[in-house]
Amino acid sequence: MKHVAVIGAGPAGLMAAEVMARGGAAVTVYDRMPSAGRKLLMAGRGGLNLTHSEELARFMTRYGAMSDALRDAIAAFPPAALRQWCEELGESTFVGSSGRVFPRAMKASPLLRAWLRRLDASGVRFALRHRWTGWSGAKLAFATPGGGTEVAADATVLALGGASWPRLGSDGGWVEILAKAGVAIAALQPANCGFRAEWSEHLKRYAGAPLKRVALSFGVERVRGEAVVTEAGLEGGAIYALAPVLLDAIAREGEATLRVALRPDMSTEQIARRVAAPRGKQSLSNFLRKALSLSAAEIGLLQEITHGRLAALSARELAQLINALPLRLTGTAPIARAISTAGGIAFSAIDAHFMLRARPGVFVAGEMLDWEAPTGGYLLQACLATGAAAGRGVVGRMGRRAD
Ligand SMILES: Cc1cc2nc3c(=O)[nH]c(=O)nc-3n(C[C@H](O)[C@H](O)[C@H](O)COP(=O)(O)OP(=O)(O)OC[C@H]3O[C@@H](n4cnc5c(N)ncnc54)[C@H](O)[C@@H]3O)c2cc1C
Repeated sequence: MKHVAVIGAGPAGLMAAEVMARGGAAVTVYDRMPSAGRKLLMAGRGGLNLTHSEELARFMTRYGAMSDALRDAIAAFPPAALRQWCEELGESTFVGSSGRVFPRAMKASPLLRAWLRRLDASGVRFALRHRWTGWSGAKLAFATPGGGTEVAADATVLALGGASWPRLGSDGGWVEILAKAGVAIAALQPANCGFRAEWSEHLKRYAGAPLKRVALSFGVERVRGEAVVTEAGLEGGAIYALAPVLLDAIAREGEATLRVALRPDMSTEQIARRVAAPRGKQSLSNFLRKALSLSAAEIGLLQEITHGRLAALSARELAQLINALPLRLTGTAPIARAISTAGGIAFSAIDAHFMLRARPGVFVAGEMLDWEAPTGGYLLQACLATGAAAGRGVVGRMGRRAD
């Protein structure tokens, strides 16, 4: 039996392990953390969006310039196969109103538990608290709480993730190791990330407050959804959806002015009529809260943009502001807070089986590859599909070498 090392117990690594164990390999999964799948568990906190139900041709366009590079892997493990795989693990899935696919339980823990049980039953071993530090000759070198250790493997799958949320395990530390080994790597950057705004001290008190059912516009792009005020700016689903155009604009101009419609279902006239009603002895904040159900954070934003002179605006000016609030964004939030990472191992550095050209026998998968996609289930779909592809690559290579 060939011994294969998977380094990284996230969705990509675990999927590679599953495929290789099924293909007859003795698999050990190494991870620097004390338990597997920490980012997957975090992804399940707000509802685990596994994949998307749209037809495959449209689905593939979500990977932009990298859709060709991912096409074969996703065709071999498409969204329907991912849903079937969940079913087999006892987790049925459903399609939400936006077309996104979720497990019935919404969270990741039942799925991960069932998956780890199945991997265990198929003979996959786990070596946790093992931080991969590179190669020592042909062997894999790890740092463990008990000291350094070296492991020989017939093949290796690296599935070390990107660099967001480093406290969950993936910290991008692999970049230096692989760059030294001659692997082409595009710089890791935040994707699906929050943005910085120069908030006043007053606004910072609303950190964590959601802006619900708003519409965000930038240029011709308009997105409905939710954003969240942070201490240093904005984050949340609607912001992530606009991230690519905002990133471009900030790279070009140094800043980007986002327009926020706080009440996108109402016309300016409707809003103006409501704010023109007599407010009696009520404070302006109380009045706006009642007349338009604006939250304290939304009123705080209006005050911020008018430098506290909201009361001086006419009903019409106020109505216009409520549905086109200009928020100046001056940079991205740190990669540590991003949902995912852009950049990574260039597709030119791997062959059709996800094997590194510079390091035969070493395969790569998941977010550490240079692709990016919006939220909507596209991230996990590509991680699982490339994990399966790398696993098949290893099985194929072992078969060829055994011949
Ligand atoms: C808050 C949040 C919500 C998200 N929600 C969704 C969602 O709903 N839908 C979706 O599609 N995607 C979502 N994602 C993204 C998704 O979780 C990731 O794209 C996915 O987990 C990446 O999988 P991966 O296996 O490539 O890497 P990871 O899951 O990051 O796993 C990599 C593993 O490698 C280990 N590792 C790293 N370096 C070393 C080393 N040197 N030695 C040993 N081990 C190492 C890490 O400990 C980690 O366990 C979310 C992400 C976040 C942060």
